[in-house]
Amino acid sequence: MDIDMEVVLQNLTKKFPSRDRKNRGEVIAVNDFTFKIPDGKLIGLLGPSGCGKSTTLNLISGLEKPTSGRIFFGGDDVTELPPENRGIGLVFQNYALYPHLTVEQNILFPLQNLKGKDKLSKEVMLEKAREAAKMVQIDELMDRKPSQLSGGQQQRVAIARALVKMPKVLLLDEPLSNLDARLRLQTREEIRRIQRETGITTIFVTHDQEEAMSISDLIVVMKEGVALQIGKPQEVYDSPANLFVAKFLGTPPINLFHGQVKAGRIYIGENAVMDVGDISDREVYVGVRPEGFLPSEEGALCCKLKGIEVMGRDISIVSENPASLNPTVRAIIGTENKLNLEQEALEEGNEVRFSLIPHKVFLFDRETEERIQFEESGL
Ligand code: ADP
Ligand code: MG
Repeated sequence: MDIDMEVVLQNLTKKFPSRDRKNRGEVIAVNDFTFKIPDGKLIGLLGPSGCGKSTTLNLISGLEKPTSGRIFFGGDDVTELPPENRGIGLVFQNYALYPHLTVEQNILFPLQNLKGKDKLSKEVMLEKAREAAKMVQIDELMDRKPSQLSGGQQQRVAIARALVKMPKVLLLDEPLSNLDARLRLQTREEIRRIQRETGITTIFVTHDQEEAMSISDLIVVMKEGVALQIGKPQEVYDSPANLFVAKFLGTPPINLFHGQVKAGRIYIGENAVMDVGDISDREVYVGVRPEGFLPSEEGALCCKLKGIEVMGRDISIVSENPASLNPTVRAIIGTENKLNLEQEALEEGNEVRFSLIPHKVFLFDRETEERIQFEESGL
């Protein structure tokens, strides 16, 4: 695109009067959110239900007015502009198509509402609708009614309708949540392709970390109205700012242990598992990604084996440790790293030992739950 459509959110805050009648306070749905969305990128807004994702999106679209803060599109302050003057395309979880209109009429709808100098001829409108339909591969279905389409097809129509005016900013609120697993995968790849082809600055809301990680140039992890961390998906996974982010990203999730730092070493229970240099003695949470364990007879971390799960591509070693916050510890070993353990060692109840891969191990303060940085040095 020729215009620079960077979107800037500046100290954006949205408070609602509490819906809870007994509790007359207010809900801070979005709390002092400052973020620059680069032109032409796809941003994933990620967080659990109720963290303020939809409210953030509604502020960007203009469906909600901020309590304070400003919003800029390509340098222009749009905070006071109504949604229809912002040049946005919106897609929601429930496709919200007009049931009595055909696919073509649904896609045409936003164009028919253009007034004055923006008004288009019938031919131009039909041409644009066809182009948008082609982009999401539903141009064969133009004469059908929404009830004659699958969920995935309906969502494509909704996307085509959002694209037909060539919006400056595309806003998608959990657009894949109503689709079954296979369609979800396919449609998210489709959205990525369309976004790349059109170069439209796009904000994609989801509570699904895998979805956000796979599709986004940048992710914003939100909790209780606050943006906790912003970065490239892999960077956020590899370097979580705090316990919440570490727990939210990754399947299977990170393994957490109660631990201590004593004299420059991390202890999980009695086991000294890693050297960490000059961190003062304290209580910590130790987080270990599932891929951060190497089974080895000399390994420092001692667990009790529960079972082995072979899942095609990799092997899970499921075990227990008294210091673990989760009921089980799950280690994932690629099948190419053949288990160098004797068969009889793999029986339930036996001891299994792991050494830890330093850059897969994170320390968090017990009080603040913030990450404690350390020099990786192994043991
Ligand atoms: P998400 O999309 O991440 O699930 P929302 O943005 O919908 O979260 O909601 C964020 C918070 O704001 C929640 O606590 C929700 O209950 C509250 N909230 C959202 N809309 C309203 C409203 N119109 N009135 C009162 N509270 C609201
Ligand atoms: Mg929502």
